[in-house]
Amino acid sequence: MRRLWAPWRMSYVSGEETAEDGCFLCRAGDRGSPEDGLVVELAARTVTVANRFPYSSGHVVVAPRRHATGLEELAPEESAAILAAAQRAIAALSLVMRPEGFNVGFNLGRAAGASIDHLHLHVVPRWGGDTNFMPVLADVKVLPEHLEATAARLREALRAPARPPAP
Ligand SMILES: [Zn+2]
Repeated sequence: MRRLWAPWRMSYVSGEETAEDGCFLCRAGDRGSPEDGLVVELAARTVTVANRFPYSSGHVVVAPRRHATGLEELAPEESAAILAAAQRAIAALSLVMRPEGFNVGFNLGRAAGASIDHLHLHVVPRWGGDTNFMPVLADVKVLPEHLEATAARLREALRAPARPPAP
């Protein structure tokens, strides 16, 4: 299990969140931000973004658009919106990438591996036998174009009529 969780600490490199840049996930929630290409879904209360340092292909994070830092500070409707967004992301990922399973979870606090303060829920598609692949991937530079192509495919899947409505 150690191998499964440790890479999540690299979700965002240190220095990602600086005073000049502000918060990456807050920016991603604003239309016209530089992260637009990686934004998979923008809903009323949530933003879903392709992770720039993915643990596996299709790794996305779901965040409240408000800069919340603790799970306990979410209002019930925000909690529900985040889970609903994760459900839609899982449906889209299932359609586009046909994974065999998912890891879904929060890293709360730096000691738990969170590298930015803005609360976010990881949704990580998994395939049987992919654990040997991941340490290799960790050393590979992921091209932004590849991530944006994946995000575009997920956006397309989320526009499919079968999805549940965004809250
Ligand atoms: Zn933020």
